[in-house]
Amino acid sequence: MSRFHLCDFAVNCLWPITYCSLQTANFHYLSCMRIIFILFLVLQLFTCIAQTDSVYILKPARVFDGEQMHTDWIVVVKGNKIEAAGKMNVPTITNSRIIELPNTTLLPGLIEGHAHLFLHPYNEVSWNDQVIKESRAERTVRAVTHARATLMAGFTTVRDLGTEGAGYDDAGLKRSIEKGLIPGPRMIIASKAIVAKGSYGPRSENPEVHLPQGAAEVSSMYEMESEVRDQISKGADVIKIYADYRWGRDGQAMPTFSTEAIALATDIAKSGGRQSVAHASTTEGMRRAVLGGVSTIEHGDEGNEEIFRLMKEKGVAFCPTLAAGDAILQYNGWKKGTETEPARIIAKKKSFAAALKAGVTICMGGDVGVFAHGDNAREMELMVEYGMKPLDVLRSATSVNADVFGYAGSIGRIRSGLLADLVAVDGDPSQNMTNIRKVFFVMKDGKIFKHL
Ligand SMILES: [Zn+2]
Repeated sequence: MSRFHLCDFAVNCLWPITYCSLQTANFHYLSCMRIIFILFLVLQLFTCIAQTDSVYILKPARVFDGEQMHTDWIVVVKGNKIEAAGKMNVPTITNSRIIELPNTTLLPGLIEGHAHLFLHPYNEVSWNDQVIKESRAERTVRAVTHARATLMAGFTTVRDLGTEGAGYDDAGLKRSIEKGLIPGPRMIIASKAIVAKGSYGPRSENPEVHLPQGAAEVSSMYEMESEVRDQISKGADVIKIYADYRWGRDGQAMPTFSTEAIALATDIAKSGGRQSVAHASTTEGMRRAVLGGVSTIEHGDEGNEEIFRLMKEKGVAFCPTLAAGDAILQYNGWKKGTETEPARIIAKKKSFAAALKAGVTICMGGDVGVFAHGDNAREMELMVEYGMKPLDVLRSATSVNADVFGYAGSIGRIRSGLLADLVAVDGDPSQNMTNIRKVFFVMKDGKIFKHL
Protein backbone atom coordinates (compact mmCIF):
# COMPACT_ATOMS: atom_id res chain seq x y z
CA MET A 1 0.00 0.00 0.00
CA SER A 2 1.33 3.45 -0.90
CA ARG A 3 0.60 4.79 2.56
CA PHE A 4 1.69 8.35 2.03
CA HIS A 5 -0.02 8.94 -1.28
CA LEU A 6 -2.55 11.75 -0.89
CA CYS A 7 -5.30 10.05 -2.97
CA ASP A 8 -5.02 6.87 -0.92
CA PHE A 9 -5.12 9.02 2.16
CA ALA A 10 -8.40 10.63 1.06
CA VAL A 11 -9.91 7.25 0.21
CA ASN A 12 -8.82 5.92 3.57
CA CYS A 13 -10.45 8.88 5.30
CA LEU A 14 -13.81 8.68 3.51
CA TRP A 15 -14.25 4.95 3.40
CA PRO A 16 -14.66 4.19 7.11
CA ILE A 17 -17.10 7.10 7.63
CA THR A 18 -19.39 5.69 4.96
CA TYR A 19 -18.82 2.18 6.10
CA CYS A 20 -19.46 2.95 9.77
CA SER A 21 -22.65 4.91 9.07
CA LEU A 22 -24.13 2.13 6.92
CA GLN A 23 -23.01 -0.85 8.92
CA THR A 24 -22.68 0.31 12.50
CA ALA A 25 -23.76 -3.09 13.63
CA ASN A 26 -21.02 -4.68 11.66
CA PHE A 27 -18.36 -2.55 13.15
CA HIS A 28 -15.75 -5.23 13.40
CA TYR A 29 -12.11 -5.61 14.17
CA LEU A 30 -10.84 -4.69 10.69
CA SER A 31 -12.61 -1.30 10.80
CA CYS A 32 -11.01 -0.52 14.13
CA MET A 33 -7.62 -1.30 12.71
CA ARG A 34 -8.34 0.90 9.72
CA ILE A 35 -9.37 3.84 11.89
CA ILE A 36 -6.29 3.46 14.06
CA PHE A 37 -4.26 3.47 10.88
CA ILE A 38 -6.00 6.65 9.69
CA LEU A 39 -5.33 8.35 13.01
CA PHE A 40 -1.71 7.40 12.56
CA LEU A 41 -1.69 9.00 9.10
CA VAL A 42 -3.34 12.17 10.41
CA LEU A 43 -0.69 12.34 13.14
CA GLN A 44 2.00 11.94 10.49
CA LEU A 45 0.42 14.74 8.45
CA PHE A 46 0.35 17.11 11.42
CA THR A 47 3.94 16.22 12.28
CA CYS A 48 4.88 16.98 8.70
CA ILE A 49 3.13 20.35 8.79
CA ALA A 50 4.74 21.14 12.12
CA GLN A 51 8.18 20.37 10.67
CA THR A 52 7.57 22.54 7.62
CA ASP A 53 6.50 25.45 9.76
CA SER A 54 9.11 24.99 12.47
CA VAL A 55 10.50 28.27 13.77
CA TYR A 56 13.89 28.59 15.41
CA ILE A 57 15.16 31.71 17.12
CA LEU A 58 18.95 31.64 17.27
CA LYS A 59 20.75 33.72 19.87
CA PRO A 60 24.53 33.66 19.34
CA ALA A 61 27.07 36.07 20.89
CA ARG A 62 27.81 37.53 17.47
CA VAL A 63 26.74 37.11 13.87
CA PHE A 64 28.94 37.24 10.81
CA ASP A 65 26.36 37.86 8.09
CA GLY A 66 28.71 37.01 5.22
CA GLU A 67 30.05 40.54 5.02
CA GLN A 68 30.32 42.11 8.49
CA MET A 69 30.47 41.03 12.12
CA HIS A 70 27.59 42.09 14.38
CA THR A 71 26.83 41.76 18.06
CA ASP A 72 23.41 41.45 19.70
CA TRP A 73 21.82 40.01 16.60
CA ILE A 74 19.05 37.45 16.57
CA VAL A 75 18.36 35.17 13.64
CA VAL A 76 14.90 33.77 13.02
CA VAL A 77 14.51 30.66 10.87
CA LYS A 78 11.15 29.57 9.53
CA GLY A 79 10.95 26.32 7.62
CA ASN A 80 14.03 26.14 5.44
CA LYS A 81 14.52 29.91 5.10
CA ILE A 82 15.98 32.73 7.13
CA GLU A 83 12.97 34.78 8.17
CA ALA A 84 14.79 37.69 9.81
CA ALA A 85 18.19 38.70 11.10
CA GLY A 86 19.28 41.75 13.03
CA LYS A 87 19.06 43.62 16.30
CA MET A 88 15.59 42.98 17.67
CA ASN A 89 13.67 41.80 20.68
CA VAL A 90 13.07 38.08 20.79
CA PRO A 91 9.86 37.72 18.76
CA THR A 92 6.90 35.91 20.25
CA ILE A 93 6.00 33.19 17.79
CA THR A 94 3.81 30.22 18.65
CA ASN A 95 5.66 26.92 18.68
CA SER A 96 9.03 28.60 18.12
CA ARG A 97 12.13 27.15 19.70
CA ILE A 98 14.79 29.42 21.13
CA ILE A 99 18.32 28.12 20.64
CA GLU A 100 20.85 29.76 22.92
CA LEU A 101 24.32 29.79 21.39
CA PRO A 102 26.41 31.57 24.04
CA ASN A 103 30.01 32.53 23.25
CA THR A 104 29.57 31.51 19.63
CA THR A 105 29.77 33.23 16.27
CA LEU A 106 26.94 32.39 13.90
CA LEU A 107 27.97 32.36 10.26
CA PRO A 108 26.34 31.48 6.96
CA GLY A 109 26.97 27.81 6.18
CA LEU A 110 30.54 27.68 4.90
CA ILE A 111 31.12 27.03 1.21
CA GLU A 112 34.03 24.83 0.16
CA GLY A 113 35.14 26.08 -3.24
CA HIS A 114 37.31 23.18 -4.36
CA ALA A 115 36.59 19.66 -3.17
CA HIS A 116 36.91 16.11 -4.46
CA LEU A 117 34.57 14.01 -2.35
CA PHE A 118 35.65 10.92 -4.30
CA LEU A 119 39.29 11.28 -3.27
CA HIS A 120 40.97 10.71 0.08
CA PRO A 121 44.39 11.85 1.33
CA TYR A 122 47.28 10.84 -0.91
CA ASN A 123 49.39 9.75 2.07
CA GLU A 124 46.79 7.01 2.62
CA VAL A 125 46.62 5.85 -1.00
CA SER A 126 48.28 7.58 -3.97
CA TRP A 127 46.06 9.35 -6.48
CA ASN A 128 47.09 6.83 -9.16
CA ASP A 129 46.06 3.86 -7.02
CA GLN A 130 42.78 5.46 -6.02
CA VAL A 131 41.88 5.92 -9.69
CA ILE A 132 43.15 2.54 -10.90
CA LYS A 133 42.70 0.10 -8.02
CA GLU A 134 39.83 1.21 -5.83
CA SER A 135 36.41 -0.07 -6.87
CA ARG A 136 33.66 2.41 -7.67
CA ALA A 137 31.72 0.94 -4.75
CA GLU A 138 34.57 1.66 -2.35
CA ARG A 139 34.98 5.15 -3.73
CA THR A 140 31.28 5.82 -3.27
CA VAL A 141 31.31 4.49 0.30
CA ARG A 142 34.24 6.77 1.03
CA ALA A 143 32.44 9.70 -0.59
CA VAL A 144 29.44 9.13 1.67
CA THR A 145 31.62 9.37 4.77
CA HIS A 146 33.41 12.39 3.30
CA ALA A 147 30.10 14.15 2.69
CA ARG A 148 29.09 13.67 6.31
CA ALA A 149 32.44 14.87 7.65
CA THR A 150 32.22 17.96 5.44
CA LEU A 151 28.78 18.90 6.70
CA MET A 152 29.70 18.32 10.34
CA ALA A 153 32.71 20.62 9.87
CA GLY A 154 30.27 23.41 9.02
CA PHE A 155 30.57 23.30 5.24
CA THR A 156 27.00 23.20 4.03
CA THR A 157 27.94 23.57 0.35
CA VAL A 158 30.81 22.16 -1.69
CA ARG A 159 31.85 22.81 -5.24
CA ASP A 160 33.11 19.38 -6.21
CA LEU A 161 35.57 19.81 -9.08
CA GLY A 162 35.83 16.36 -10.53
CA THR A 163 35.28 12.75 -9.52
CA GLU A 164 38.79 11.78 -10.75
CA GLY A 165 37.84 8.53 -12.43
CA ALA A 166 34.54 7.92 -10.64
CA GLY A 167 32.50 8.93 -13.69
CA TYR A 168 29.21 10.62 -12.94
CA ASP A 169 28.93 9.19 -9.43
CA ASP A 170 28.94 12.73 -8.00
CA ALA A 171 25.49 13.22 -9.52
CA GLY A 172 24.19 10.18 -7.63
CA LEU A 173 25.83 11.35 -4.42
CA LYS A 174 24.29 14.79 -4.83
CA ARG A 175 20.82 13.34 -5.40
CA SER A 176 21.17 11.00 -2.41
CA ILE A 177 21.95 13.98 -0.17
CA GLU A 178 19.06 15.96 -1.65
CA LYS A 179 16.70 13.03 -1.03
CA GLY A 180 17.85 12.86 2.60
CA LEU A 181 19.31 9.36 2.28
CA ILE A 182 22.61 10.51 3.75
CA PRO A 183 23.77 13.69 5.50
CA GLY A 184 25.96 15.92 3.37
CA PRO A 185 26.46 19.36 1.95
CA ARG A 186 24.75 20.92 -1.03
CA MET A 187 26.81 19.96 -4.04
CA ILE A 188 27.82 21.98 -7.07
CA ILE A 189 29.32 19.31 -9.30
CA ALA A 190 31.73 19.21 -12.23
CA SER A 191 31.31 15.47 -12.92
CA LYS A 192 34.25 14.09 -14.93
CA ALA A 193 36.12 17.33 -15.82
CA ILE A 194 37.86 17.67 -19.20
CA VAL A 195 41.50 17.12 -20.12
CA ALA A 196 43.45 17.18 -23.37
CA LYS A 197 44.05 13.67 -24.68
CA GLY A 198 47.36 12.25 -23.48
CA SER A 199 48.06 15.01 -20.99
CA TYR A 200 46.55 13.61 -17.78
CA GLY A 201 46.91 10.44 -15.77
CA PRO A 202 47.32 7.82 -14.58
CA ARG A 203 50.02 6.96 -17.11
CA SER A 204 51.50 3.61 -17.96
CA GLU A 205 55.14 3.01 -18.94
CA ASN A 206 53.84 0.40 -21.34
CA PRO A 207 52.37 2.18 -24.39
CA GLU A 208 50.16 -0.85 -25.08
CA VAL A 209 48.37 -0.40 -21.76
CA HIS A 210 45.63 2.20 -21.62
CA LEU A 211 44.78 2.99 -18.05
CA PRO A 212 41.45 4.46 -16.97
CA GLN A 213 41.84 8.23 -16.77
CA GLY A 214 41.04 10.63 -13.97
CA ALA A 215 39.01 12.88 -16.31
CA ALA A 216 37.38 12.85 -19.75
CA GLU A 217 39.86 13.17 -22.63
CA VAL A 218 39.15 15.25 -25.73
CA SER A 219 41.36 15.86 -28.75
CA SER A 220 39.40 18.14 -31.08
CA MET A 221 36.94 20.99 -31.04
CA TYR A 222 34.20 18.54 -31.96
CA GLU A 223 35.06 16.28 -29.03
CA MET A 224 35.24 19.26 -26.69
CA GLU A 225 31.74 20.36 -27.68
CA SER A 226 30.40 16.83 -27.45
CA GLU A 227 31.98 16.24 -24.03
CA VAL A 228 30.69 19.49 -22.54
CA ARG A 229 27.18 18.72 -23.73
CA ASP A 230 27.43 15.14 -22.45
CA GLN A 231 28.61 16.22 -19.01
CA ILE A 232 25.82 18.78 -18.76
CA SER A 233 23.26 16.15 -19.72
CA LYS A 234 24.56 13.87 -16.95
CA GLY A 235 24.23 16.56 -14.28
CA ALA A 236 27.31 18.80 -14.34
CA ASP A 237 26.59 22.18 -12.73
CA VAL A 238 29.95 23.54 -13.79
CA ILE A 239 32.43 22.57 -16.53
CA LYS A 240 36.00 22.09 -15.39
CA ILE A 241 38.83 22.24 -17.90
CA TYR A 242 42.47 21.43 -17.28
CA ALA A 243 44.09 24.39 -19.05
CA ASP A 244 47.52 22.97 -18.29
CA TYR A 245 49.01 19.86 -16.81
CA ARG A 246 52.32 18.11 -16.27
CA TRP A 247 52.76 16.84 -19.85
CA GLY A 248 55.87 18.88 -20.70
CA ARG A 249 58.94 17.16 -22.17
CA ASP A 250 60.52 17.03 -18.72
CA GLY A 251 57.28 16.42 -16.87
CA GLN A 252 56.69 20.10 -16.19
CA ALA A 253 53.28 21.77 -16.34
CA MET A 254 52.50 23.14 -19.82
CA PRO A 255 49.35 24.58 -21.43
CA THR A 256 47.07 21.96 -22.97
CA PHE A 257 44.18 23.69 -24.72
CA SER A 258 44.04 26.69 -27.02
CA THR A 259 42.13 29.78 -25.92
CA GLU A 260 39.59 28.93 -28.64
CA ALA A 261 38.98 25.44 -27.27
CA ILE A 262 38.42 26.83 -23.77
CA ALA A 263 36.16 29.54 -25.18
CA LEU A 264 34.11 26.90 -27.01
CA ALA A 265 33.53 24.99 -23.76
CA THR A 266 32.72 28.24 -21.95
CA ASP A 267 30.20 29.33 -24.59
CA ILE A 268 28.33 26.02 -24.46
CA ALA A 269 28.35 26.02 -20.65
CA LYS A 270 27.08 29.63 -20.61
CA SER A 271 24.28 28.75 -23.03
CA GLY A 272 23.14 26.23 -20.46
CA GLY A 273 23.41 28.74 -17.60
CA ARG A 274 26.61 27.23 -16.28
CA GLN A 275 30.12 28.40 -15.59
CA SER A 276 33.42 27.02 -16.80
CA VAL A 277 36.41 26.87 -14.47
CA ALA A 278 40.02 26.05 -15.14
CA HIS A 279 42.75 24.12 -13.43
CA ALA A 280 45.81 26.22 -14.31
CA SER A 281 49.22 26.50 -12.70
CA THR A 282 51.26 28.14 -15.46
CA THR A 283 50.96 31.79 -16.41
CA GLU A 284 50.23 30.83 -20.03
CA GLY A 285 47.59 28.29 -19.00
CA MET A 286 46.02 30.92 -16.74
CA ARG A 287 46.13 33.54 -19.52
CA ARG A 288 44.41 31.25 -22.04
CA ALA A 289 41.79 30.26 -19.48
CA VAL A 290 41.05 33.89 -18.58
CA LEU A 291 40.74 34.87 -22.25
CA GLY A 292 38.64 31.74 -22.80
CA GLY A 293 36.07 33.15 -20.39
CA VAL A 294 36.30 30.91 -17.34
CA SER A 295 34.86 32.12 -14.04
CA THR A 296 37.58 30.87 -11.71
CA ILE A 297 41.19 29.78 -11.95
CA GLU A 298 42.18 26.94 -9.65
CA HIS A 299 45.71 26.71 -8.17
CA GLY A 300 47.55 29.47 -10.12
CA ASP A 301 50.94 28.59 -8.66
CA GLU A 302 52.90 30.57 -11.24
CA GLY A 303 50.52 33.50 -11.23
CA ASN A 304 52.23 36.90 -11.26
CA GLU A 305 51.01 40.47 -10.89
CA GLU A 306 50.41 40.82 -14.62
CA ILE A 307 48.16 37.75 -14.85
CA PHE A 308 46.30 38.62 -11.65
CA ARG A 309 45.67 42.14 -13.00
CA LEU A 310 44.25 40.55 -16.15
CA MET A 311 42.02 38.35 -13.97
CA LYS A 312 40.78 41.38 -12.06
CA GLU A 313 40.11 43.24 -15.30
CA LYS A 314 38.13 40.31 -16.73
CA GLY A 315 36.32 39.55 -13.46
CA VAL A 316 37.87 36.11 -13.03
CA ALA A 317 38.22 34.89 -9.45
CA PHE A 318 41.17 33.00 -8.02
CA CYS A 319 40.93 29.82 -5.96
CA PRO A 320 44.49 29.37 -4.66
CA THR A 321 44.22 25.89 -3.04
CA LEU A 322 47.02 26.64 -0.58
CA ALA A 323 46.28 23.60 1.54
CA ALA A 324 46.86 21.08 -1.28
CA GLY A 325 50.49 22.09 -1.80
CA ASP A 326 51.02 22.37 1.95
CA ALA A 327 49.73 18.80 2.40
CA ILE A 328 51.58 17.22 -0.54
CA LEU A 329 54.93 18.68 0.52
CA GLN A 330 54.43 17.27 4.01
CA TYR A 331 53.51 13.88 2.52
CA ASN A 332 56.82 14.10 0.66
CA GLY A 333 58.76 14.57 3.87
CA TRP A 334 58.74 18.30 4.67
CA LYS A 335 58.57 18.78 8.44
CA LYS A 336 56.56 21.97 8.69
CA GLY A 337 57.55 24.17 11.60
CA THR A 338 60.93 22.56 12.14
CA GLU A 339 62.44 22.62 8.64
CA THR A 340 62.85 25.61 6.34
CA GLU A 341 60.09 26.20 3.84
CA PRO A 342 60.45 24.42 0.49
CA ALA A 343 60.83 26.61 -2.61
CA ARG A 344 57.30 25.68 -3.71
CA ILE A 345 55.81 27.13 -0.51
CA ILE A 346 57.86 30.31 -0.82
CA ALA A 347 56.72 30.68 -4.45
CA LYS A 348 53.10 30.03 -3.48
CA LYS A 349 53.22 32.70 -0.80
CA LYS A 350 54.68 35.11 -3.35
CA SER A 351 51.97 34.42 -5.94
CA PHE A 352 49.23 34.66 -3.32
CA ALA A 353 50.63 38.04 -2.20
CA ALA A 354 50.62 39.17 -5.85
CA ALA A 355 46.97 38.17 -6.16
CA LEU A 356 46.06 40.11 -3.01
CA LYS A 357 47.99 43.14 -4.27
CA ALA A 358 46.24 43.03 -7.65
CA GLY A 359 42.87 42.96 -5.87
CA VAL A 360 41.66 39.85 -7.66
CA THR A 361 38.63 38.20 -6.05
CA ILE A 362 39.83 35.32 -3.88
CA CYS A 363 37.70 32.20 -3.39
CA MET A 364 38.09 29.78 -0.53
CA GLY A 365 38.83 26.30 -1.79
CA GLY A 366 41.54 23.99 -0.54
CA ASP A 367 41.43 21.05 -3.00
CA VAL A 368 40.18 18.97 -0.09
CA GLY A 369 40.49 15.28 -0.84
CA VAL A 370 44.22 15.74 -1.24
CA PHE A 371 43.93 16.18 2.53
CA ALA A 372 41.16 14.93 4.83
CA HIS A 373 37.53 15.86 4.30
CA GLY A 374 36.29 17.69 7.36
CA ASP A 375 39.66 19.42 7.62
CA ASN A 376 38.48 22.09 5.16
CA ALA A 377 39.38 24.84 7.67
CA ARG A 378 43.02 24.17 6.88
CA GLU A 379 42.71 26.38 3.78
CA MET A 380 41.20 29.24 5.78
CA GLU A 381 44.01 29.07 8.33
CA LEU A 382 46.61 29.12 5.56
CA MET A 383 44.95 32.07 3.84
CA VAL A 384 45.46 34.01 7.08
CA GLU A 385 48.99 32.65 7.48
CA TYR A 386 49.82 33.74 3.90
CA GLY A 387 48.67 37.31 4.54
CA MET A 388 44.90 37.65 4.05
CA LYS A 389 42.81 39.47 6.66
CA PRO A 390 40.68 37.02 8.70
CA LEU A 391 37.44 38.88 7.96
CA ASP A 392 38.25 38.68 4.23
CA VAL A 393 38.84 34.94 4.58
CA LEU A 394 35.42 34.57 6.22
CA ARG A 395 33.91 36.57 3.35
CA SER A 396 35.65 34.30 0.82
CA ALA A 397 34.21 31.18 2.45
CA THR A 398 30.68 32.57 2.46
CA SER A 399 29.40 35.55 0.42
CA VAL A 400 32.30 35.71 -2.06
CA ASN A 401 32.09 32.02 -2.96
CA ALA A 402 28.30 32.29 -3.29
CA ASP A 403 28.63 35.36 -5.53
CA VAL A 404 31.43 33.95 -7.67
CA PHE A 405 29.79 30.54 -8.17
CA GLY A 406 26.44 32.13 -9.04
CA TYR A 407 24.47 31.12 -5.94
CA ALA A 408 24.06 34.48 -4.18
CA GLY A 409 20.30 34.21 -4.45
CA SER A 410 20.15 31.25 -2.08
CA ILE A 411 23.27 30.85 0.08
CA GLY A 412 26.35 32.66 1.42
CA ARG A 413 24.75 35.30 3.64
CA ILE A 414 22.58 35.56 6.72
CA ARG A 415 19.81 37.53 5.16
CA SER A 416 16.03 37.30 5.12
CA GLY A 417 14.79 35.05 2.32
CA LEU A 418 17.98 33.02 1.88
CA LEU A 419 18.19 29.34 2.73
CA ALA A 420 18.73 28.54 6.41
CA ASP A 421 22.27 27.20 6.13
CA LEU A 422 23.85 28.33 9.41
CA VAL A 423 26.87 27.38 11.44
CA ALA A 424 27.91 28.41 14.95
CA VAL A 425 31.51 28.12 16.10
CA ASP A 426 32.94 28.72 19.56
CA GLY A 427 34.70 32.06 19.94
CA ASP A 428 35.39 34.58 17.23
CA PRO A 429 37.12 33.30 14.07
CA SER A 430 37.83 36.86 12.93
CA GLN A 431 40.17 37.13 15.94
CA ASN A 432 41.58 33.62 15.73
CA MET A 433 40.89 31.56 12.60
CA THR A 434 41.41 28.25 14.43
CA ASN A 435 38.02 28.92 16.06
CA ILE A 436 36.40 28.05 12.73
CA ARG A 437 37.17 24.42 13.61
CA LYS A 438 35.17 24.57 16.85
CA VAL A 439 31.86 23.80 15.23
CA PHE A 440 29.09 23.86 17.80
CA PHE A 441 25.98 23.96 15.63
CA VAL A 442 25.16 23.09 12.03
CA MET A 443 21.88 23.79 10.29
CA LYS A 444 21.28 23.05 6.61
CA ASP A 445 18.05 23.87 4.84
CA GLY A 446 16.43 24.65 8.20
CA LYS A 447 17.31 21.24 9.64
CA ILE A 448 19.69 20.85 12.57
CA PHE A 449 22.47 18.35 11.87
CA LYS A 450 24.70 19.17 14.83
CA HIS A 451 24.10 20.86 18.17
CA LEU A 452 26.58 20.18 20.96
ZN1 LIG B 1 41.34 19.65 -7.48
